Amino acid sequence: MKTPLVEIDGDEMTRVMWGMIKEKLLLPYIDLKTKYYDLALEHRDETDDQITIDAAVAIKKYSVGVKCATITPNAARVKEYNLKQQWKSPNGTIRAILDGTIFRKPIMVRNIKPAVRNWKKPIILGRHAYGDVYKNVEYRINGPGRVELVFTPENGEEEVRHTIHEFSKPGVVQSIHNLDASISSFAEACFSYALDQRVDLWFSTKDTISKIYDSNFREIFEQIYEEKYRGKFEDAGITYFYTLIDDAVARIIRSEGGMVWALKNYDGDVMSDMLASAYGSLAMMTSVLVSPHGYFEYESAHGTVQKHYQRYLRGEPTSTNPVALIFAWSGALRKRGELDGTPELVIFADKLEASVIRTIEEGIMTGDLAKLAEPPAKRVVYTEEFIEEVTKRLAEGW
Ligand code: NAP
Ligand code: MG
Repeated sequence: MKTPLVEIDGDEMTRVMWGMIKEKLLLPYIDLKTKYYDLALEHRDETDDQITIDAAVAIKKYSVGVKCATITPNAARVKEYNLKQQWKSPNGTIRAILDGTIFRKPIMVRNIKPAVRNWKKPIILGRHAYGDVYKNVEYRINGPGRVELVFTPENGEEEVRHTIHEFSKPGVVQSIHNLDASISSFAEACFSYALDQRVDLWFSTKDTISKIYDSNFREIFEQIYEEKYRGKFEDAGITYFYTLIDDAVARIIRSEGGMVWALKNYDGDVMSDMLASAYGSLAMMTSVLVSPHGYFEYESAHGTVQKHYQRYLRGEPTSTNPVALIFAWSGALRKRGELDGTPELVIFADKLEASVIRTIEEGIMTGDLAKLAEPPAKRVVYTEEFIEEVTKRLAEGW
């Protein structure tokens, strides 16, 4: 390897699998170089969470990172780990520093059929992660009165005032906002990731109803496309397609898949859960944070799999699925190879992924997949055995 990867270690069962993957699937085959950041919850606590900021800054320096799942502490975790405070979500901190958008992509194998039969290729979902209903102001109206929306310009110009509703009876009210800069970053990340993956980009909002708010999203996407991406998309043979959200949902269900689907915050929240369950398993979903400045951070979409970790601590072997974590590594290595111009690394990433897929398609899989497999699994294995089987196939193909 020419340039190191930023390696961000994490917690619980995913930390255990992280070690296995490095030892069995990476170190024997490549001269792995990483800048290591340990985001284990104890270490975040020790460093007052500085380590999370350092990791994000390192991704800005080296462009590519790979991250293990980490605990986002709640009250129970504060007690369990005797924390100084309830540290924020590391993913939130890293995303804020990199100004990135998260894309989720399912890993497909022949013997796990998506709930939607005609989906042959992955649908990659990109969710805008700022504003709208997630930063709303809302309250209950208990009696008659007028609710208004008021803008007070700082430059002394006249205020703008609109009546939302003259309430004669009780009800509820909500207001939301978004920012051009955030929408532009989101659009940039979507165009650049679609180009990176060489697949079409779809974007959908409800701009027929929301003629200013949602239309603003549409216009920003269109403007960025025309100014910066039309030529690149045409050269790559891919298209940018805007359609109304209802039309998009109907078309997605009838499609073969194989696109990036960009969605506003709420739509993305809802649709990402629908896609994850329709494709089969959270353990087969990868996630990549793409910044508009060209930084990439790869991880699995699932968490630290705490329940399995508790069994592991009792000395019981677990059948936890390492596939999304392996693909986080292969995704990061492939990107590193592309940026450094080291095709061997790209080929290794391809072979690693192919070995994982072959193992599952030959009927050897962890328990979560065995519940879904068609035809049924030949052997249901523990995590270590699964990785062992992948190693065998990797060694054959290397
Ligand atoms: P989770 O770790 O995703 O696990 C939820 C359940 O999904 C598991 O109990 C397991 O079901 C199944 N599962 C998930 N990944 C699996 C895998 N690789 N192999 C097999 N089964 C898998 O979610 P959680 O239990 O709600 O969260 C645990 C911790 O993870 C929390 O502290 C949370 O803060 C953190 N988290 C981190 C991230 C991240 O860093 N990106 C994301 C989400 C959550 P069964 O028990 O039925 O087998
Ligand atoms: Mg959701």
